[in-house]
Amino acid sequence: RPEPSLVEVGGDGVPPVVVGGSRVVVVAGPCAVESERQIDEVARAVKESGASILRAGAYKPRTSPYSFQGLEREGLELLAEVRRRVQIPVVTEVLNPRDVEVVAEHADMLQIGARNMQNFALLREVGRSDRPVLLKRGMAATVEEWLMAAEYVLSAGNSRVVLCERGIRTFETATRNTLDLSAVAVVHELSHLPVLVDPSHGTGRAAYVAPMARAAVAAGADGIMVEVHPSPDEALSDGPQQLTPEAFAQMVESLRPIAAAL
Ligand code: PEP
Ligand code: MN
Repeated sequence: RPEPSLVEVGGDGVPPVVVGGSRVVVVAGPCAVESERQIDEVARAVKESGASILRAGAYKPRTSPYSFQGLEREGLELLAEVRRRVQIPVVTEVLNPRDVEVVAEHADMLQIGARNMQNFALLREVGRSDRPVLLKRGMAATVEEWLMAAEYVLSAGNSRVVLCERGIRTFETATRNTLDLSAVAVVHELSHLPVLVDPSHGTGRAAYVAPMARAAVAAGADGIMVEVHPSPDEALSDGPQQLTPEAFAQMVESLRPIAAAL
């Protein structure tokens, strides 16, 4: 396998985290920022349970234009505040090239969602940013296409790219997507980039998240990204797949015997 790249996330007033080293990095948080109280509660809970990066969307790529679209600018401000208060680096999605600068001012890491994996204008724009990038696999993208999307970011001058497997579309309907854990082994053979696994979007069901997180760690993933909400039943997006803080804490404990270091 190629010499692995280490990607630093954070610093700048919050603890820096290295993705791609010997530790398995846990990224956790709600699907979307919904309120100050919600994001504060989740940030404290997931940090306490072992997460080292907070995730939450301010700009949400929803299938329906009538669904909750995220708190947008207000969400970014809430993220910047909780980041400082709770002392945890933040990753959040950017949907539009014109928002890259403002998202980079508020967050430590820029997420490119599955739906934008081949939005080449957006990839070039985050490639010009000095923030690390979390590049999710497109729902119908081959590993080759995913790695080429990463090349758009790298070739624009940003060497800090982390990949994230989040499931692909297949004929199976028992799960929201089919989590392709073999992609972890393939990426590690073909690329120097670290790769995370998102069992939340990968399965779409809270009950399947912990087993797939354990499988991801056993497969050698550099980390996992998991959705956590204080009351999943009331979530404004992705309720069925979000873990309660208590279920998340248990899941993290169950990873310890599998991970070399967490
Ligand atoms: C997310 O992680 O918030 C998200 C929208 O996931 P994906 O782009 O993988 O669907
Ligand atoms: Mn989600």
